[in-house]
Amino acid sequence: MAKEIVKKQIDSIFESPFIQVLKSSIRKTEVPLPLARLTANVIPLSVGDDARLRTAVMSPANYDRELLQLLYSKTEFVNPSTPAEPLQISYDQFCSALTSQDKLMLLWAIYKSTYETLGPRTVTCSNENCKNKFQVEISLDDLIQEDSITPWDKESPVSEYIYPIEIEDTKSNLVYIFDSHIPNLYRVNSILSRMSTTKIQHNLETQGSVYTLKDIVVSITKKITIHPVGDNENVVETTDFADIDQAFSKYIRKTIWDEYRKKYDEHFSKYDVRFYTKLKCPKCQQEFDYDVDLEVEFFRRSLLE
Ligand SMILES: [Zn+2]
Repeated sequence: MAKEIVKKQIDSIFESPFIQVLKSSIRKTEVPLPLARLTANVIPLSVGDDARLRTAVMSPANYDRELLQLLYSKTEFVNPSTPAEPLQISYDQFCSALTSQDKLMLLWAIYKSTYETLGPRTVTCSNENCKNKFQVEISLDDLIQEDSITPWDKESPVSEYIYPIEIEDTKSNLVYIFDSHIPNLYRVNSILSRMSTTKIQHNLETQGSVYTLKDIVVSITKKITIHPVGDNENVVETTDFADIDQAFSKYIRKTIWDEYRKKYDEHFSKYDVRFYTKLKCPKCQQEFDYDVDLEVEFFRRSLLE
């Protein structure tokens, strides 16, 4: 889809000198996209963007799509060989090449360029005997710690990388081979398109996350192959989204997907982006890590404010 690229070029031709001066005064935040192996410059949210997100929040899939389009429109990709000329990436390429981890980095950058801090908040001391509540103001820079980001270090790009995980289920006499991967933005959006806002709110309230465990397991699974134990001839497989969803909701035993999830995490969890800061309780001096889920922060902002 070259349409967006052409539109961007036309926009810049017709910009008045007045707009060009304003545009060049906007502070950009540079951010690495660790899994897509790109560098991006992100510009702040405007008042119109806030309203756009608030309207879209009625439907989670729309919300996510709006958010992706918004992030795309605020992002310029750095071209290492021609620093003055940004890398042209279509919206399609953006959604297929980037993962949720890269999206988190863009969210971080848009937050930083727009607000600089998360705003004042009350934190409870992690010491069981203290539980003191105190106010902190956390800046976006504070959330990046030494081990927050691990760049993708495999030879093939993350969008093409498959990690097969084989598990034998003696109870059902089946061998499962799960072709697992780190899902791209398209795949995560297709999961959201199957959810209602009520369900997402429920997930937020009960587990503090937008997705349930099943949604995550479905999103990380590209293909399932099954055959009877000791019989490699009678093989059936599926890459169909609805089939994979049904398999996990109805047929695959919990212990199997727990084991699957465990093996997946052993292989992939090091690439998770972790935003946290180190805090010290003013009362008992206990030091502890305070984690922030930027995706939830962003969703809550649009939902509640
Ligand atoms: Zn304390």
